[in-house]
Amino acid sequence: MSQPLETLIRQVEERQDELIQLAERLIRFKTPAPPARNTAEAQQYIASFLESRGFAIDQWDVYPGDPNVVGVRKGQASGEYKSLIINGHIDVAEVNAGEAWENDPFEPFVKDGVLVGRGASDMKGGLAGALFAIQLLDEAGILLPGDLLFQSVIGEEVGEAGTLQCCNRGYSADFAVVVDTSDLHIQGQGGVITGWITVKSKQTFHDATRKNMIHAGGGLLGASAIEKMMKLIQGLQELERHWAVTKSYPGYAPGTNTINPAVIEGGRHAAFIADECRLWITVHFYPDETYEGVAQEIEEHLNRVAQADPWLRENPPQFEWGGSSMIEDRGEIFPSLEVDPTHEAVRLLSSAHESIVRQHAIVDVSPTVTDGGWFGDAGIPAAIYGPGDLRNAHAVNEQVSIEQLVHFTKVMLTFIYEWTHTHK
Ligand SMILES: [Zn+2]
Repeated sequence: MSQPLETLIRQVEERQDELIQLAERLIRFKTPAPPARNTAEAQQYIASFLESRGFAIDQWDVYPGDPNVVGVRKGQASGEYKSLIINGHIDVAEVNAGEAWENDPFEPFVKDGVLVGRGASDMKGGLAGALFAIQLLDEAGILLPGDLLFQSVIGEEVGEAGTLQCCNRGYSADFAVVVDTSDLHIQGQGGVITGWITVKSKQTFHDATRKNMIHAGGGLLGASAIEKMMKLIQGLQELERHWAVTKSYPGYAPGTNTINPAVIEGGRHAAFIADECRLWITVHFYPDETYEGVAQEIEEHLNRVAQADPWLRENPPQFEWGGSSMIEDRGEIFPSLEVDPTHEAVRLLSSAHESIVRQHAIVDVSPTVTDGGWFGDAGIPAAIYGPGDLRNAHAVNEQVSIEQLVHFTKVMLTFIYEWTHTHK
């Protein structure tokens, strides 16, 4: 390890209080989503932090009151050395009235070696550690050869496309680290896509006509959209079971790839035959699958189910997949992410982890989803690596171990330094 790096790593220890204060500062910004649209002040703080350390800032509203921030610091030999994206979300899980917090969730405090507050582990701890690493590198006057990009995005907790917009705006790098909750494991993830399945009758019938559509010789080709939806739900259960026995992925318990009928809406009122029924489903899939692929499998299967029913054959189900926000259009996509343990950056991150933490680096899969999938979708090699564990994410008295936060900051410092010093 190089001399300047060793000095900086010691400084993380010596200046631990400043690191904690930075994490506390971020937690004090009240950025829960829902309700969202409350991150402008926090994002301005991060933009100013980065700007004062030589980053060019690109800030734009994803939604009014919810801007994305991307800071870019061009390397001294940009183009010849590896570039890095550090990505994290500034929104935190919602806080509900009556939750038994020891203190105001947005008034963080330290107790028994942990920092407590909403977002401590998901993921203002991760953001603070990465920002503090950048601060130390800058204060030491270290000029990195490769480009460094920092993305502070909005809306992750409600499936909004903060990170997708960064990718669509053309921000790219040789590697991306999503510093979200991973308990310092280096992780990929499965994906999630939501969808709406609609069964709709071409005509609307009065309740009194039911006798004509279900009894022999009634003469009326009609059906209740609710009852027809029951057939489709049964079809989904068959497909879910088929997936459970035919698909698998290392690190996941069999049957993790589920199709959840989450919400159902349908019918007008009791004087009508239900002429429309809508089902909202949540589909979990494995890292080696795509959201387009699983959506297509579901459509094909349900279209076959529909073909076997005389009424559904004439009134086939309609599908709407994904969405850009659980708040705005009741839909979301989290693409999957596969991590290649032999990738140069993953090996470097693993060895940085091992030299700092003095434990074997674990490369595995997240049991949840993060924005990491958008990098996979954009063809940017990436991994999730951050402090905090998922028992704490979204929990009452959410907390992060200070020892882990310090470890994380040292590993990021090492990784940023070494990766941007790696020749292309
Ligand atoms: Zn998160």
